[in-house]
Amino acid sequence: MENCIFCKIIKKEIASNVVYEDAHTFAFLDNNPMSKGHTLVMPKKHFTNIFDMPEQEACAVMASIKQISIALKKSLHAEGINILQNNEKIAGQLVMHSHTHVIPRYQGDTVQIDHGPRMKLSSEDMNHIASTVKKAL
Ligand code: AMP
Ligand code: ZN
Repeated sequence: MENCIFCKIIKKEIASNVVYEDAHTFAFLDNNPMSKGHTLVMPKKHFTNIFDMPEQEACAVMASIKQISIALKKSLHAEGINILQNNEKIAGQLVMHSHTHVIPRYQGDTVQIDHGPRMKLSSEDMNHIASTVKKAL
């Protein structure tokens, strides 16, 4: 897609630190990393986010995430990994080409993934929410 910075990176029109590439997926280092090895993994084709990405592409991305996570753990000695995907502006998505953050974790790192306070819901509300979602599937 024209004017998409990640499409330009995938087409190598803009330089990046590529860590992985296959037929369907592409991964490069985030240029403003939360930790050493913070990687962005994405489909080569332009999709906005999880809502318009076909299942086949989503599965290909997940397979790459798994391989890259193992490589980050092994090569950079990460002790853990956070996998994070922002979908839509409300959820913090800034670049509108679907991508997943793979964030290595190290003892004493400065990563902050603030999930905020949890809600307390009645079992009635919980049942209602579960059945509402179930009906949509
Ligand atoms: P998000 O908020 O999930 O859309 O995250 C977008 C991410 O893309 C941010 O973590 C940015 O640091 C990263 N980013 C933006 N432009 C570039 C670029 N040219 N090269 C590498 N990472 C980038
Ligand atoms: Zn794009």
